[in-house]
Amino acid sequence: MPKIALSVRCRRCGEEFDTRLRLDRRSFERGTLAANYHTCPVCGARETYRKADYLVREAIPQNRVP
Ligand SMILES: [Zn+2]
Repeated sequence: MPKIALSVRCRRCGEEFDTRLRLDRRSFERGTLAANYHTCPVCGARETYRKADYLVREAIPQNRVP
């Protein structure tokens, strides 16, 4: 199952940053992911983000298992 990386766009400064959350796509689609705190590395704003706020990015695989 390929992993996806979740990013969000900061509410204060508008910069997109990686939340470091990694999960498979099915878990993301099924999960609720309500009100997670993330701190923006650019401006330091700590905000809550909901599932709808996440920007799905393909995670770079660490190693490929055939
Ligand atoms: Zn910011």
